[in-house]
Amino acid sequence: MPVDKCSFCGRTKNQVNMLIAGISGHICDTCAEQAHNIIDEESKKRNEFDVNKIKLIKPVEIKKFLDQYVIGQDSGKKYLSVAVYNHYKRLLQGKNADDDDVEIEKSNIIMVGATGTGKTLLARTIAKLLHVPFTIVDATVLTEAGYVGEDVESILSRLLQVADYNVEAAEKGIVFIDEIDKIARKGDNPSITRDVSGEGVQQGLLKLLEGSVVNVPPQGGRKHPEQKMIQVDTKNILFICGGAFDGIEKKIAQRLNTKVVGYSASAKAQTLDRNNLLQYIAPQDLKSFGLIPEIIGRLPVLTYLNPLDRDALRLILTQPKNAIIKQYVKLFKMDEVDLEFDEDVLEYIVDKAVEFKLGARGLRSICETIMMDVMFDLPDEKKLTISLDYAKTKLESDVAERLKAA
Ligand code: ADP
Repeated sequence: MPVDKCSFCGRTKNQVNMLIAGISGHICDTCAEQAHNIIDEESKKRNEFDVNKIKLIKPVEIKKFLDQYVIGQDSGKKYLSVAVYNHYKRLLQGKNADDDDVEIEKSNIIMVGATGTGKTLLARTIAKLLHVPFTIVDATVLTEAGYVGEDVESILSRLLQVADYNVEAAEKGIVFIDEIDKIARKGDNPSITRDVSGEGVQQGLLKLLEGSVVNVPPQGGRKHPEQKMIQVDTKNILFICGGAFDGIEKKIAQRLNTKVVGYSASAKAQTLDRNNLLQYIAPQDLKSFGLIPEIIGRLPVLTYLNPLDRDALRLILTQPKNAIIKQYVKLFKMDEVDLEFDEDVLEYIVDKAVEFKLGARGLRSICETIMMDVMFDLPDEKKLTISLDYAKTKLESDVAERLKAA
C-alpha cells in the first residue's frame, strides 16, 4: 500500500505533524502554513496600492500633515497638496456613474528652490500619506540613448520595483525627479553640436511626461536587446520635478527689469523683494534657463521654495515631528539617559550653520560633530546636559583637527 505523502514537499505522514487529505493529494501543516503566508503577502501588496481603497484627503488636510514635518514653504505645500488631491480625483474618475466627457488632465509639478530647502523632504513626506507607488529619481544620471548613463525609461523601472512589478499600480504612481535643472540646455539657443545631457534627455523625458506607452527595462539601467521589456502607460503617472536652478534669479531679474520700464516702473520696482526673487518665477524663466518649451508645457504647476533664514533653521532643529534634536533625545533615551540641550547651544548650532552656508543640511553635520564623543563614550549618569562650552570645544577642536589634516 502506498505511503501518504505531502503533494508539495514530499514528506511522509510520520515526518510531519499533520497531513491533510484532499481528493487527489495531501498537504502537510508546514506547507499549508507557507501557502497561507504567500496568500497573505500577495493580498497585502495588492491592497497597498488598490485605487478602490483611496480615501480622498482634502488639500487642507494634506497641508496640515506636511506642516508636521516641513517648516515654512507654504506656497510649495499648497501647490503640492492641490496637485496630489487632483491626482487622486483623476484616478477616481471613470468610477462614478455620472461620468461625462470631461476628462481631468494631469498637472505635473515643478518646484524650484535652493538646495537643502526641503524639496525632497516635501516629496518624501507626501509619500507617507499616499497609497500609490512613489519613487525619487535623480535626473543627473540620465543621458540620451546611446551614451553612457541611464536611459530615461529607467525612471519607470524604479517605480515598477516599488510597485512590486504590479504594472497597473505603477501606472497610477507618483515620481519625484530631482535635479531636473541639470538636464537644461546650456545656453538659450539650440546648439548644433550634440548636447548629450541636455536637450536629448529632455526630449526623452517629454515622452514620459505627456503620457505614452513606454518600454521599460525591468531592472533599470541601460536597455539591451536581450532584456525583456515591460510596457508601462504613463498617462496617469504624476511627475513632480525639483531643481535648484542656480542663477535663475538673474533671469527673473532681467525679465522683471525689462517689464518695469515705463511710467509705473518706479512704483513696481519698489515693491519687488530683491532678496527673494524666486517668488516671482514664471515659466519663461525656465525657458531662459534652458528647459525646452515642450517640457515646460508639461509641467503646468510651477512653485518655489523659500531660502531658509535663521528663524527657519532654528525651528527645523526642534520643531518637526522628527526634528534632529528629538532624534538625539530618542537615541539617548534608549540608553536610559535624559538628554537636554541648553538653549544657547541651539542658537550656536544655528549660527554655525548660517556661517558655514550649509543650510538645513549643515545642522545635522554640526550636531553630529558635537555629539560624537558622548555617543561613543556614553555617560554614566542618567542625565546629560549639553552646554555651550562643551559644544564650542567639540566643534572647534574638530575644525582644528580637519585643518591640520588638510
Ligand atoms: P532639497 O531637496 O531641497 O535639496 P532636502 O529636502 O533634501 O533639500 O533637505 C535636506 C535636509 O534638510 C532634510 O532632510 C531636512 O532634514 C532638512 N530640511 C530642509 N528644509 C527643511 C524644511 N523646510 N523643514 C524641515 N526640515 C528641512
